[in-house]
Formats: sequence, C-alpha cells, structure tokens
Amino acid sequence: MTTHQAADFLCLSGIGKTFHGTPAVRDIDLTITAGESVCFLGPSGCGKTTLLRLIAGLETPDVGQISLNGVDITGVPPRARHFGMVFQSYSLFPHLTVGKNVAYGLRCRKWNTADTRRRVQEMLDLVQLADHIDKLPNQLSGGQQQRVALARALAAQPHVLLLDEPFSALDAKVRGQLRADVRELQSRLGITTILVTHDQEEAMAVADRIVVMNGGRIEQIGSGPEIYHAPDTAFVGRFVGDMNVLQVRGNAEGRLMLAGKSLAVNEAVRPCCDRVGIRPEAIQLVQDAIGPNHFQVAVLKTQFLGKQTRLDLLLDGQPIQVDVYGQRDITFAPGDLIPVFLPPNEIRPLNEH
Ligand code: ATP
Repeated sequence: MTTHQAADFLCLSGIGKTFHGTPAVRDIDLTITAGESVCFLGPSGCGKTTLLRLIAGLETPDVGQISLNGVDITGVPPRARHFGMVFQSYSLFPHLTVGKNVAYGLRCRKWNTADTRRRVQEMLDLVQLADHIDKLPNQLSGGQQQRVALARALAAQPHVLLLDEPFSALDAKVRGQLRADVRELQSRLGITTILVTHDQEEAMAVADRIVVMNGGRIEQIGSGPEIYHAPDTAFVGRFVGDMNVLQVRGNAEGRLMLAGKSLAVNEAVRPCCDRVGIRPEAIQLVQDAIGPNHFQVAVLKTQFLGKQTRLDLLLDGQPIQVDVYGQRDITFAPGDLIPVFLPPNEIRPLNEH
C-alpha cells in the first residue's frame, strides 16, 4: 500500500460550497497528515457529506483550494484523484461476483490478469471473505457486502480512503465489529482515511482526529479525548456525550461566580465568560455544601439506569444532571436538598462558537 510521508498530505483551504443560495459548507480549513484517520462528525445537514464529496471530486467548491501532496487537485476529476470510496448503501454491482466487484477498479486501471487475480485474493483475505469470491452480492449479509465494498475501494491502492456513513445500514453488533475491523485495517495499512458519521461513539472508535461540524462550519478539531474532555463550545459538549451547561457571571479578570459563590476552575478563563460545561459523571455527591465549588442543589428526580443512577437536580435555578456510578443506596426524593461538588479540573469554560 502506498504511504505518503508528507506531514501536510491533504490540505483544504478556504473551502465553501453553496446550493441554491444556501451555504452547505463554508470557511473550511483543514490539514490531514498521511496515514491519519479523520472523522467528520456532526448532526444531519451540517455539511459532512458535502465536504467528503468535495474531497472526492464529486462536487466542485465555489471557493477555496484542495491540494494533495502539495499539488492543487481542486479541478481534478474524481477518477484521476485516485481515492477509494465506500458509501452507506453497499453499491456493489449486483450482476458481478464478489471477485469481479473487487477486480473492477483494477481492470479500469489496466492491471494485467495475473496481478489482478493476486490482488483480489489479497484483498478478500484482508477482509476475511476469500471463501465468498464466486458469490453474488445478494448472497451476502449486509456486513459482508460492506466488507467487499471496502476491499474494492482498497484494491487499487488509493491515496485516500473515503467512507460515507458505511456502517449505518447495519445492525448494532455487525456495525461494532466492522468499525473495529476498519480501524485495524486502517492502522495496519497506514492508509489516510476520512469517515463521515453522525455517531460520536463511532467517531471515537475509528478516528485519530475528529472534526466536529455544525451549520457547514468546523466547530472543533481534536482527538476523541480532547473533544470529549475539552469541548470548546456547548454544541460540541452536548453533541459528543452529555454535558451540563451552566450560566455563570464572569468578570474582566476571568473570575467566575455561580449561585453567589466564587467558582474555581483550573483553566484560564477568557474575560466575561458566561457559560461553563461539566459532564454529568464529573459532579460528585458530598457530605456538606461548605467549601470551594460545593453547592446545595434540589433533587427533581432520580432514575435507576443499571450501570448508573441519573439524578436530575436544580442548581441555583438551573437544571443539571449527575450520573452516579457504583452506589446502590441512593434514596433521594424530589424536593430533597443535597450537597454536590464541581471539581475545578472538570469545569470547562465555553465559547459562543
Ligand atoms: P446527513 O447526515 O443527513 O447526510 P450531512 O451533514 O452529510 O447530513 P450534507 O448532505 O452535506 O449534510 O448537506 C448539507 C446541506 O446541503 C443540507 O442542507 C443539504 O440539504 C444541502 N445539500 C447537499 N447536497 C445538495 C444538493 N446536491 N443540492 C441541494 N442541496 C444540497
């Protein structure tokens, strides 16, 4: 498999695309390193697929430039980009056998018969479908068909592998297995991969870096742990897991007040920050409300969810949720007042955008 050593392998600068007067993506600046696995994550309509299609050459940007290894490919047609693509629907040729589906791109590229046969075998071994080489797509399960699509996309040694929600038509168990397989294959082959998904867990499982999109723009880029533990905005915090967003009063020196008390945070706070985020599992139940970052809260309801108990609480008139793990004897009733602690290192000052 071809690997490219350049640090800035695939570069998007100032990319924008508008359909019928409505921007689908805008102001996209992104650099992807050779061998990296990147995920475009965001809600329906945020522009993920459009961005992937722009990279594939299936759409042309209105503004901006795409370059590969320092060469401008903005106007290069899809086939000449030599990218492999796997779509949500299996998109195999129904009248061709598994082997012929995988060979298709190689024949287009004029590989000779012996090399094609060897490569098809190698690819089917890779996706563990060698025994199915003579079957037709409709004789395979959904997960198997998607593995064939993957083998077909990888066969001609593409510069980049593009995956557009490839697991979404599969049931949960097959999806989990296939995404683990894709991750394993991606790191084994060292192929630069871009995956589109709206599933945060999938993004975490497959990507080195996650690009969170919102309203056609990039909201934040980071590793799974960075995105989860240090979201920049309330949108990212809430889209990737659950997050309590609390209104605070910030002063010009970056000090914060909540419920009439000073709120200690570990991170630098921009002047007049007015919102902070904290994960439900990060808030602790404590003995008393005395001390920094201890607050008295009112219980609204408790829900036993198996692994954890979820508490709906009111802190200074603001609803918050707390997840308590490994504690069996939670017997709060609505209206009870209980003390909680917000650890300073778990509080994230949030930006508007
Ligand atoms: P989903 O997860 O639902 O597929 P997405 O994040 O991939 O959503 P896109 O498919 O990129 O979003 O769409 C972004 C916006 O651009 C949407 O408002 C969509 O309706 C619009 N759009 C995308 N393709 C076209 C097109 N060919 N013609 C007109 N509008 C389009």
